[in-house]
Amino acid sequence: MGSRKTPRFLTNAFLFCVGALLLIVGINFARVEINRLAHDKAVELAHGWSTQIVINTPFLPKILAAPRGEAQPIRNLGNIQPVGPVLGYRIYDLTGDLRVLVDAPASSTDAGKPVFHTQIALPITTGGEKIGTIVSDVDASGFHEVLMAGAIKIGLILSLALSFLMAVSMMVKLSSRKEALRNSTHLTQNDSVTGMPDQPAFLEMLATAHSQEVAQHTTTNLYLLNLDRFARVNERLGNSVGNVLLRLVAERLRLACGKTVVCAHINGDTFGVIADERTGKRMQQTLQQAFLQPFNFGQSVIRLSASIGAATSTAGLHTSDELHRQAELALRAAKTNGGQQLVAYDSDTVAEFREIDRIATLVEDACQNNDFELHYQPVVDATTRKLCSFEALLRLTTVDGEKIGPDSFIPVAERIGRIEEIGLWTLREACRTVAGLPKHIGMAVNLSVQQFNSGNLVSEVVKIIKDTRVDPARIELEVTEGIMIGDTDPAFRQLSQLQELGIKIALDDFGTGYSSLNYLWRFNFDKLKVDQAFIRASDHNPKAHALLSKIVEVGRLLDMKVTAEGIETETHATRVADLGCDYSQGYLFGKAIPQTSLASVVISEFAEYIRRQTGGQADVDGTEAASS
Ligand code: C2E
Ligand code: MG
Ligand code: MG
Repeated sequence: MGSRKTPRFLTNAFLFCVGALLLIVGINFARVEINRLAHDKAVELAHGWSTQIVINTPFLPKILAAPRGEAQPIRNLGNIQPVGPVLGYRIYDLTGDLRVLVDAPASSTDAGKPVFHTQIALPITTGGEKIGTIVSDVDASGFHEVLMAGAIKIGLILSLALSFLMAVSMMVKLSSRKEALRNSTHLTQNDSVTGMPDQPAFLEMLATAHSQEVAQHTTTNLYLLNLDRFARVNERLGNSVGNVLLRLVAERLRLACGKTVVCAHINGDTFGVIADERTGKRMQQTLQQAFLQPFNFGQSVIRLSASIGAATSTAGLHTSDELHRQAELALRAAKTNGGQQLVAYDSDTVAEFREIDRIATLVEDACQNNDFELHYQPVVDATTRKLCSFEALLRLTTVDGEKIGPDSFIPVAERIGRIEEIGLWTLREACRTVAGLPKHIGMAVNLSVQQFNSGNLVSEVVKIIKDTRVDPARIELEVTEGIMIGDTDPAFRQLSQLQELGIKIALDDFGTGYSSLNYLWRFNFDKLKVDQAFIRASDHNPKAHALLSKIVEVGRLLDMKVTAEGIETETHATRVADLGCDYSQGYLFGKAIPQTSLASVVISEFAEYIRRQTGGQADVDGTEAASS
């Protein structure tokens, strides 16, 4: 607790700057020292040279003592030529007059090479008395270079030794971290189904890994994996098969992740993976690829997918609990978004999923507490306007009174795998309602494409019809063009079986989706419901109007009834009736109403119908009409 993690970048940058500074100071120090040594060497050379001249030139005092102009220095000293690093020399008498000037025959320095060239003045004495000064030109470059090369070599050796020491210390740290993690793995409980560490063990390991990595300024990568629709696998194949599958998943994860990565079975169908900074980079791919191949179980091959939530410890993330919470949020986002995907936590992505997540929670609660409600919208005969049926439309109101439209919550219910249950509840409720209405009134119920996936739809519908004792001919099931995506055979087969029961099948929202005429002859729909957008467009667009007229014709040609949706005005109603539509549905005839208001609508509708038939003479008793 409390130890804030210093951002790694800043620490590294600081260490780099300190290192660079030390290097600059070191180089300068070495340069000054080498220059000093080279200068000392030059002094030593000049000293030796000057001593040689004085010793080997007995007539030197004479030259210096001779009056100016009489001495012939060059000639007399011509045989004492400078050699090696001494480039030349000059001899001055006590008054400072130049008496001897000797230069090296050619410069010993190579052009372009760095030189360490200096002039050194030394007194010339005889019998302890100064008689003049000798100034030698000395080039100690060779010596200077040797020193420099030596310094560079030593520098390199030191750097290598330092790097080696650092690498060894890092390896020691890494292995101690692995050892600590291994120890905590050994000390902890293993899950009996998978043999992996269980949830308490996992959380302990996460805390250990996180604190160590904070101390070392590296990152911890946490992944939470949840198997998609695993409850269904358990339901269908039984818990014992489910357990074997969990073991297979655990084995595959262990194999894919490798020994250095911690894998745990957190609970049910959820697994956890902890990876360090190095292995974390490849882990996203590894985990996703782990589910590409199906699982072989006896003779059967089972495909599983997983939703994965990923979180990486970043600067400012204090505890492993926070990291865990972020991974959980990311996992929920992956799940809510349809599963079979990895979502890495970042505040923006998660915010995007918050609304969906909120609705998902409301849907889950509504399923648990039976909070859904059905409202019923009237559908009338397009010509006579007599009430023919109702369409059951789902409603969801939160405890705060917020109304969530089915356009928002149905897709979420589909994503979280709740639509089957909701759809069957809707059908049962609608059948129960229509069973209590006059026999000429039918009931339409919307089906989601996903309800065809389990293969149980037909048997469930049969059960509902039996339980509610409703005449199947009064039931109409509406599907959208989404049913035409992918392999259509299983869905078409189930639709045919439903038709064989006497149920009518309608193609809903025609004209908005894929609208391929191809679908219309591939399945024998009983009814075509033209989408409200088409009706609206025909208000001002003659082409839309022409198309609407042709759709009605096609419907007739293929022996389908046609319903026009979204009839809001008298003009709409007259237009679709004139075009030959069979039924009309829209706000003009009524919005969807709760079940409690149904009886009065049926009664007044019936009364109105009779009034129209008798030219306004009849007065109908509502109770009779409703129970007829
Ligand atoms: P839908 O099946 O096409 O239902 C008709 C929608 O149009 C309903 O919206 C209805 O209130 C609205 N509507 C009817 N007449 C008019 C009109 O004159 N003007 C306008 N502007 N709108 C009109 P709602 O109830 O919001 O439902 C929207 C969609 O949600 C439905 O479209 C259907 O696809 C889906 N849905 C509703 N209930 C269920 C259900 O129980 N199961 C499934 N799977 N989907 C459902
Ligand atoms: Mg509908
Ligand atoms: Mg519709």
